[in-house]
Amino acid sequence: MTTPILEPGSILGVLGGGQLGAMFATAARRMGYRVAVWDPDRDAPAHQLAAHSYTTPFSDPTSRERFASVVHAVTLEWENVPAELCGWLEERCRMLPTSTILRTLQDRIEQKQFLSSRQLSVPSFAVVESASQLITAVNRLGLPVVCKTAKSGYDGKGQWVLRSHSDVKVVEAILGQAESGQRWIVEQFIAFTRELSVLVVRNERGECRVYPAVENRHEQGILRDTLVPASIAVGVAEQAQDLALQAVAALQGIGVFCVELFHTEEGPLLINEIAPRPHNSGHYTLDVCTVSQFEQQVRVTCGLPLGEVRLLSPAVMVNLIGEEVRSVISAEACSALYSTSGAALHLYGKPMIRPGRKMGHVTFTAPQREMAIATAQQFVATLKKPV
Ligand code: AMP
Repeated sequence: MTTPILEPGSILGVLGGGQLGAMFATAARRMGYRVAVWDPDRDAPAHQLAAHSYTTPFSDPTSRERFASVVHAVTLEWENVPAELCGWLEERCRMLPTSTILRTLQDRIEQKQFLSSRQLSVPSFAVVESASQLITAVNRLGLPVVCKTAKSGYDGKGQWVLRSHSDVKVVEAILGQAESGQRWIVEQFIAFTRELSVLVVRNERGECRVYPAVENRHEQGILRDTLVPASIAVGVAEQAQDLALQAVAALQGIGVFCVELFHTEEGPLLINEIAPRPHNSGHYTLDVCTVSQFEQQVRVTCGLPLGEVRLLSPAVMVNLIGEEVRSVISAEACSALYSTSGAALHLYGKPMIRPGRKMGHVTFTAPQREMAIATAQQFVATLKKPV
């Protein structure tokens, strides 16, 4: 069955109103759509761009009725919105991604079990349902390992790297204090050479668009920068794209997905995580691709043809984290940045600066990737570090 195309003027709902929601709303508005944003945080950036705003908790029954009566289709920008709400919405309108996929991806254990059941490579893992099971998992996998909460947790929160038996004791004590019913996944620690990610867009007819493999560098669990394209052999880049495509097809995913991968020197590429939405590592698509990840999200949500994916220039995307944003908002600093050729500044308009909070990003483009890296490095050296 072909999905009817939602015409410009239709109202697209987005669950979550952070910067990803704001960038989705900007793309939607440019394409003639209106946006209804639901985020309990009144200061969430996407509210400023919304035709309809909802700021109640996601559990509010009145808002869900109102939201459903206004929107023609719904998407999300945050995978931890209640799957139950998405299930309720999908009985009333088009909902991308579906609640079934959301349930699988919201839980790291279910996600890894799904992928390994489809022979898609992931790090070896074990499930831990109580503190006392941690040691069994460690003995089975061997140190070092990474222990992660099954649900929630992002930017390295709710995660511990265990390198020694004393680390095991410390984490055992932490798990022992968790609420009952909590589960964890313990993974073999992968000494990766680099982390890669690939965006995949897939529609209801199974048509796909795959973006190039890019390279992500993290600091303290938070994405520091993304190098576009990744400096890997063509064959590895193709394998990464292929693996990402296979994973999204296996899920029968409809929407925009970001597949994060570990690249090691010897072993196969491994899938670390799949996000059922546009991703921070795909922000470069706004400045250097024919069609951005957000425009693709609008297209797939509206049943429009998917956009051609063509990389127009190498680039480096640098996140502005917490206090770092102060380094670009003075008149002097932002004029220096605007004088840098190929620099594109994106500020998210968040009123409060908090440690670790993503406040904006800068994309540096240049004819050669190494030039973009050099300019980005000079810029990072000027950033205000937290005191
Ligand atoms: P995640 O929330 O699962 O994406 O993990 C956040 C970051 O922790 C990843 O981007 C990696 O840098 C690191 N990490 C996660 N899992 C592993 C692993 N199994 N081995 C090594 N590093 C990991």
